[in-house]
Amino acid sequence: MVSGAVNIENKGKKAVGNLFTSYESSIPSGKNRMIRKATIVFILFLVFHSENKAQKVITEVNASEIVVGKAVIAVTGVRIIDGNGGAPIENGSVVVANGKIVDVGQADRVKIPAGAEKVDGKGMSLLPGFIDAHFHIDGVDELPGMFLQNGVTSIRDPGAWMETYENARKSGKPQPRMFLSGPHIDMFPPAYPNDAYVVRDAAEAVTQVNRAADQGSTMIKAYFRLPPSIIKEVCIAAHKRGIPVSAHLETTEAMEAIEAGLDGIEHVTSFGLTMAPKREGEKFRQNVLADNNARRNGRYEIWSQLDLKGKMADSLVKFLVKKKTFVDPTLGAFEYREENGKLDTVKLQGFNNMKAFTGIMKKGGVHVVLGSHSMIKYAEKGWAYQREMELFAESGLTNAQIIVASTMENARFFRISDKLGSIEKGKIADLVLVKGNPLDNISDARNVEKVMLNGVWVK
Ligand SMILES: [Zn+2]
Repeated sequence: MVSGAVNIENKGKKAVGNLFTSYESSIPSGKNRMIRKATIVFILFLVFHSENKAQKVITEVNASEIVVGKAVIAVTGVRIIDGNGGAPIENGSVVVANGKIVDVGQADRVKIPAGAEKVDGKGMSLLPGFIDAHFHIDGVDELPGMFLQNGVTSIRDPGAWMETYENARKSGKPQPRMFLSGPHIDMFPPAYPNDAYVVRDAAEAVTQVNRAADQGSTMIKAYFRLPPSIIKEVCIAAHKRGIPVSAHLETTEAMEAIEAGLDGIEHVTSFGLTMAPKREGEKFRQNVLADNNARRNGRYEIWSQLDLKGKMADSLVKFLVKKKTFVDPTLGAFEYREENGKLDTVKLQGFNNMKAFTGIMKKGGVHVVLGSHSMIKYAEKGWAYQREMELFAESGLTNAQIIVASTMENARFFRISDKLGSIEKGKIADLVLVKGNPLDNISDARNVEKVMLNGVWVK
């Protein structure tokens, strides 16, 4: 990787040198200096951008362990929901060969190759494999495999040592694509010591970013003790390696942190501080800085009082749109319900506001993506992803928007949208076949009939 980057850089420099020489010789001296300068700047811009592009290859750590399908498979007479958010194809067919989607369209237009293995999709919907932006294995080795059986073909763990996935990878059972990150970056005292790499300054943080990148990290997560000045250095280092950075904030003001270079935000609660009145916000912040656990109740208190129609909420949404920030609300991690006749009105109001703000962000044009948090209170083991889809529906997203957030939008967040995230010719064949129509009822995403990974039926 490193030597490749050096080569690209050298080639780039040589190319600039050649362009300069030929350009110099073709223009009479003293004439049109302005145009010459502008052209040189433009050439440098092109070279810089081509270098950046060449380095951006995000790959799951278990890529070599995923079998490539050899068979030609056709799913016929099925509703195709392609992940791009447009109208579905009601009576469509998809043909897969050698692990790729080779044709997709109206059933009467798609030619089914002789000898293809046929699956009748009548009464069912075919979707791109679900992508989970926020998965934690939490020592449950069978969990990634269970998610795959439930339609989640790609997972990203935003903060865990790579080793924590070894048992799952060696289990012999099919596993989803694992986009791992390495431990999240935090400062002392860390909220989750086992999943954190604790740094004392920006230099240590940058070293860790590069170490993670060397090990195949696909993103870096900044945790809530990092100040914007260190987030900035983390982002610069990660972007040099072609890796996006996301953050769990809460004690850091979101717009400052995004201005420092973040690509994404984990947890809707990361925005509480920004929208709270300054004095209350600072009180919450000091409480959490003094004791990590103060955030557990404190975030509901803050959220129960937010003015979501106020100026701060409005300017935050506009800022997120302008910055093209991906937002992964993980509502399931905060879901509150009345239990045994006991109702905590602060928690209920706090959670209702988290949902409401998720809807406001989507309506305002923010790039909302879906992360399940994998083990949550109100989902049976393995079903947190579908629960998050339902919570998005309760937040006011349309079912079509929820499916986009689950597939194509997440692919863009991961920087893998050239190969995954939608049902399109040429893309990798990661597919989910569900009974019913999730565009009518999002809970139909639970009716998983079949799952295809890399052109192979794994369920
Ligand atoms: Zn998490």
